[in-house]
Amino acid sequence: MKILVTGGAGFIGSAVVRHIIENTSDAVINLDKLTYAGNLESLSDVDSHERYFFEQVDICDRVELDRVFAEHKPDAVMHLAAESHVDRSIDGPAAFIETNIVGTYTLLEATRAYWNTLSDDKKQDFRFHHISTDEVYGDLEGTDDLFTETTSYEPSSPYSASKASSDHLVRAWLRTYGLPTVVTNCSNNYGPHHFPEKLIPLMILNALDGKPLPVYGNGMQIRDWLFVEDHARALYKVVTEGEVGETYNIGGHNEKANIDVVKTICSLLDELVPNKPAGVAHYEELIAYVTDRPGHDVRYAIDASKIERELGWKPEETFESGIRKTVEWYLNNQPWWSRVLDGSYAGERLGVS
Ligand code: NAD
Repeated sequence: MKILVTGGAGFIGSAVVRHIIENTSDAVINLDKLTYAGNLESLSDVDSHERYFFEQVDICDRVELDRVFAEHKPDAVMHLAAESHVDRSIDGPAAFIETNIVGTYTLLEATRAYWNTLSDDKKQDFRFHHISTDEVYGDLEGTDDLFTETTSYEPSSPYSASKASSDHLVRAWLRTYGLPTVVTNCSNNYGPHHFPEKLIPLMILNALDGKPLPVYGNGMQIRDWLFVEDHARALYKVVTEGEVGETYNIGGHNEKANIDVVKTICSLLDELVPNKPAGVAHYEELIAYVTDRPGHDVRYAIDASKIERELGWKPEETFESGIRKTVEWYLNNQPWWSRVLDGSYAGERLGVS
């Protein structure tokens, strides 16, 4: 099978590409615009493989999408390309509307045009897998409820509203045009190759540098955390075995308050790092509470029982094992994150070389 993965140079997309190349006999066409979040160095283990192809293309560019479909003739699309950082969506929502909504629309139309050229058998077997977030469901503040696949949408941020919009477009392309789509909504991911603007890598790298660890509000916002490699395995199961028209929620059964995540990282660093920054006895001393994010949802929690029951997927990592692996990965992979922090990972495209 040939799978077109959009956003394959990003955090989750690169884990998906590595998973497919290393564990299956499928080929991958990684289609990525390479925004600031795209990092081809995350693919250094697989990028010389004969089943791996890269296309630097914007999902808003219909002409280029048509060319890629015609040249590579994929059997499935896994759509991960997106603007993904909530804080950036608050400061500048335009890119989120453009990529997450207009880009998804453009990709759906290019996929539909290509799909219409396939034989009836190939049409049936084709999949358009849209990768989305649990943030589309809104806030579970003050309840013990879990998000299920039938929870109604109530997004709070420009990011989650743009993802909700793209989810609706994907489902409409199935209902209206018959394009065989499947949607997954997943909780917060963490693990290797995570861009250092996100909570967990930000805390690890700030701590190592002796910088403050900024925690929004009182730090009591609850998120469910899933190790990225568990997510990649789940996504591959869905694209190969999922039912057309279905939605699968994916989560780790790991509800944690942000402050507890930060304290866990601090105690792992206390254990694993022999030389602390000057004046720091314990990393927790660096925690600094900062003004809360506007519209900040208080609690997300996922019921992932459907994918467990129907597709036999379960996370392999607990939060404790996954966060230890993650901290160790950052300690052992300074060249990767140093090149992200100084901008050199992006070559000349971000104006730094
Ligand atoms: P990311 O920001 O790390 O990567 C996004 C990738 O998309 C980058 O490689 C970027 O270059 C590419 N991209 C952005 N705009 C593009 C465009 N216009 N055309 C082509 N490529 C473009 O994101 P991530 O954390 O890996 O998330 C991947 C997907 O998973 C997103 O759709 C996100 O909404 C979803 N998701 C993320 C999480 C999470 O915790 N990170 C949880 C659930 C769902």
